[in-house]
Amino acid sequence: MRHVFLLLVLVLSGPAGRAEDSSPRLREATNGTPAFARLTELCDRFGPRFSGTTNLEAAIDWTVAQLREDGFDNVRTEPVMVPRWVRGGESAELVSPTPGPLPMLGLGGSIGTPPEGLTAPVLVVTNFAELASRTNEAAGRIVLFNAAFTDYGATVQVRWRGPAEAARAGAVACLIRSVTPFSLQTPHTGAMDYPTNAPRIPAAALTIEDADRLHRWQARGVTPVVRLRMAAQTLPDGPSRNVLAEVRGREKPEEIIVVGGHFDSWDIGQGALDDGVGCIAAWEALRQIKGLPQRPRRTLRLVLWTNEENGLRGARAYAQRPADELARHVAAIELDRGLGWPRGFSFLGGDAGLAMLKEFGDRLAPLGAGEFRRGGVGADLGPLVTHGVPGLELMNSSTNYFWFHHTAADTVDKVDPAELDATVAALAVLAWSLAEAPEPLPR
Ligand SMILES: [Zn+2]
Repeated sequence: MRHVFLLLVLVLSGPAGRAEDSSPRLREATNGTPAFARLTELCDRFGPRFSGTTNLEAAIDWTVAQLREDGFDNVRTEPVMVPRWVRGGESAELVSPTPGPLPMLGLGGSIGTPPEGLTAPVLVVTNFAELASRTNEAAGRIVLFNAAFTDYGATVQVRWRGPAEAARAGAVACLIRSVTPFSLQTPHTGAMDYPTNAPRIPAAALTIEDADRLHRWQARGVTPVVRLRMAAQTLPDGPSRNVLAEVRGREKPEEIIVVGGHFDSWDIGQGALDDGVGCIAAWEALRQIKGLPQRPRRTLRLVLWTNEENGLRGARAYAQRPADELARHVAAIELDRGLGWPRGFSFLGGDAGLAMLKEFGDRLAPLGAGEFRRGGVGADLGPLVTHGVPGLELMNSSTNYFWFHHTAADTVDKVDPAELDATVAALAVLAWSLAEAPEPLPR
């Protein structure tokens, strides 16, 4: 049955189409893998998988046992030391003009406030340029960046750099509008930076609704006053692990195609979309290939990186392999963009590589995933791409990923099992094509 699923996908050909309107035969073929059940168990059993927590390490132990049970080759873990940031109790409240709680999440890596909290008038700005023009008003205040979401890469700069910019202007704390286009009073956490040349101040995210409300008060000539309490602290680094498992190649086992996702999540929610779906889809895609009558020519290696969210330590550690092994990495694929219908793959590599990938397009077209285009790839692939390994990332149709990203609502109920299975199929076809091609993907 499972063999039939993948073989159907591999032999199906036809005009490029979208997964929703593809044939009933294909829909049947791409539904019913165990991926969703496995993701559900991972999410419900272990909860958030934050770096430095026993949840994460227990989830890694469970995964390793399952991979061995599945019959993967060379199932193992590789040690990685990771940051241990502990959120602790936290709250924000509007003291005036209308007292009441403000839903919030401290930003990952933030320092805490004094135990009694920190109370200060708020200066609301929309961007760094406005802060620069109002620096004389920022001293002693809490600076709130109320930057509307445009795209993630642009808007996230406020989260990453905002605390340092506010501190340089003399602010006592930094608040940001959550990095999302849509909100149901849901705060979003995420990583921030403390560069060495700026004072460290506490930093947290408010909801879109409250950031706008405080901004409106300021526009009416009223200065809101906020009390922020955060018990956050950073403990010494602790041990974690990357997880590796392989489908050994039948002819060129020394040539490696990496397929994976990041196994850690933030300390809230379940990390279902970020990046449980990526890990489980990669795992299931390779398990499907392992079940085929014949193994592909090259080795497929599942890599589940630890600590992508607040350190990227897992990806950096993985890339510290001997140069000759890195030279034998033919390509690396990551899925870290949430979940939708697969559309194709974003590629970071040379022209000859892109030309060869486009030849695989016909095989992926029945899944609606036949497009290959130059673009960025997941953060975990950065260190490998630096070493010359061509990188790929699945593109999907999702339009609401950032509604749930880094929130308590990133839970498994947001995952569509049919989209997950279609993603498994697209990953399996690309991974198999790269592993089976007569010549390796040119660098
Ligand atoms: Zn992610």
